[in-house]
Amino acid sequence: MSSQVLEVKNLKTYFKTGEGLARAVDGVSFKIERSSTFALVGESGCGKSVTALSIIQLLSASGVETHGDIFLNGSEISNLPEAEKRHIRGNRISMIFQEPMTSLNPVFTIGNQITEALTLHQGLNKAEAKNAAISMLSQVKFTDPEAIFNDYPHRLSGGMRQRVMIAMALCCKPDLLIADEPTTALDVTIQKDIMGLMNELKSELGTAVLLITHNLALVYNNADTVGVMYAGRLVELAPARLLFSNPQHPYTIKLMRSIPGAARRGHLLDTIKGAVPAATSYPKGCRFSGRCPREMEGCAATEPALTTKKSTANDYGSKQFVACHLYDLAFMSGAKARPLRAAADGESKALPTKAAAPGSETIVKISNLKTWYPIRKGIFKKIRGYVRAVDGIDLTVRSGQTLALVGESGCGKTSAGKTILQLIKPAGGSVCFRGQEITAMGTRELKQIRAKMQIIFQDPYSSLNPRLMVKDIIEEGIRSLLPGLNKVERQRRVAEVLDLVGLGPKAMSRYPHEFSGGQRQRIGIARALAVRPEFIICDEAVSALDVSVQAQILNLLKIIQDKFGISYLFITHDLGVVEYIADEVAVMYNGKIVERGAVEDIFNRPTHEYTKKLLSAVPALPE
Ligand code: SF4
Repeated sequence: MSSQVLEVKNLKTYFKTGEGLARAVDGVSFKIERSSTFALVGESGCGKSVTALSIIQLLSASGVETHGDIFLNGSEISNLPEAEKRHIRGNRISMIFQEPMTSLNPVFTIGNQITEALTLHQGLNKAEAKNAAISMLSQVKFTDPEAIFNDYPHRLSGGMRQRVMIAMALCCKPDLLIADEPTTALDVTIQKDIMGLMNELKSELGTAVLLITHNLALVYNNADTVGVMYAGRLVELAPARLLFSNPQHPYTIKLMRSIPGAARRGHLLDTIKGAVPAATSYPKGCRFSGRCPREMEGCAATEPALTTKKSTANDYGSKQFVACHLYDLAFMSGAKARPLRAAADGESKALPTKAAAPGSETIVKISNLKTWYPIRKGIFKKIRGYVRAVDGIDLTVRSGQTLALVGESGCGKTSAGKTILQLIKPAGGSVCFRGQEITAMGTRELKQIRAKMQIIFQDPYSSLNPRLMVKDIIEEGIRSLLPGLNKVERQRRVAEVLDLVGLGPKAMSRYPHEFSGGQRQRIGIARALAVRPEFIICDEAVSALDVSVQAQILNLLKIIQDKFGISYLFITHDLGVVEYIADEVAVMYNGKIVERGAVEDIFNRPTHEYTKKLLSAVPALPE
């Protein structure tokens, strides 16, 4: 049997929209071998997920045009009748999505959902399907697979639900598994388990994997071949090790340099200016022109083809393909090869000098803080016990410094953040802001303190009122917390903070839905800054963003801190971000702080077993 499982040839997926034809995928070709992983990377909106949905044939609605060929084990599958396509889906091609809860039916047990695929596609009877499902659940490392079989999705954690999705996807032993951001919502330890599991099953069953992610470290550690997608096209294609050791396309280089980590401490991260062009209006020539630091005079007029750098190469399994005029000898010898701007590649900008050196002055001191949620049972809802989400933690945040609070989901990080701000009433302990105890304060006193203590949330969209214009969203906070300011002063503040976060006056009269994810996070930051805080809690503030946008927001937070001496409590599960931005780190586990200290000490010399486990789960990138 041929070792090639999937071949995609010149795939095009277009959507008819009010603004014209959106060319989401625009001529993409690649192959995936048996037992190997092909990763598609790139910013949001580059066409990665649409490529996946086109392969699994889930885009058949009116208004969608697909062209090109898709071969599965050598047979063309794109022109099959719908009944045959249905048979292929879930049987020979399976897909795992980012958010397992939206793909699992909440009203059916896990067992019902797995056995349905087995009886439908494999023709097993009820008893056989149950045995096969339990065996698959045990393969995905559930210690009590029978209990999981009878359980409902909402009773499982995110990592457990993702393992159920993998069991469902693999129960019919598919030839191709498509994993679309399979671990983005998960902690590093669970991410490591899930990827390990997928790799094990891939080797055992011979499955080919199409991995879609924006996590480049995950790609480096798990993929065999990588395709970098930009504006509907592949711009670089290479074996993973080669791509990471020697990236060629300016876009790939920029993406890699925007990853935060210890090596970038003290410097601004590299960012990519502008945004991915809309799929309805790609530039005529190179689609990266306008954003590219190495753009030449002729780049915007002529589109580069994806070609190998070495003229002898004919198989991308061992060679590197790039779509850029820099590698086109004929183009480079012509008059249009003159650079448009001085190349800034390799330049790593140092952070501006701090307005005030970070001191040892304590801004926030948390002692023995507890957040307990009551467990109510019976018809009278009597309290039968407590979930001790935060169980006696001590933290100190110093002026102008960043303390990172890390740990897995459910360890109590977010509860701790909300309790510090008194958004949740503590069950015990103390929170002192500049020496003032705030846990016993009344509403009026607390309001004054809240202006000094702000929060930025993970999901900027759900934290912004969609019915209000940006200027009203920001002004609302000022009016509530600083009632002494008049309208003119408030409006001046709104203009100031929007300018500070790089959005400018035009943003004032627009609504949240008109902005990208990164811009919305800037609005969230502007709203927090408008009341001139001294302390900000950033609760997974960059977790939902693309690596390029994440770099812009991290730079912005650093610049703001250095300019105004603001202290941050950075709640995150991304240890690369911690190494880049934090001065100190506290590791939280099961509601308690198990280790804390300077970032260098904790990362280089962890002492607690849990910290060691957490650090060892972080996928490494080449130096
Ligand atoms: Fe940059 Fe020109 Fe290459 Fe496009 S073709 S990536 S604009 S150098």
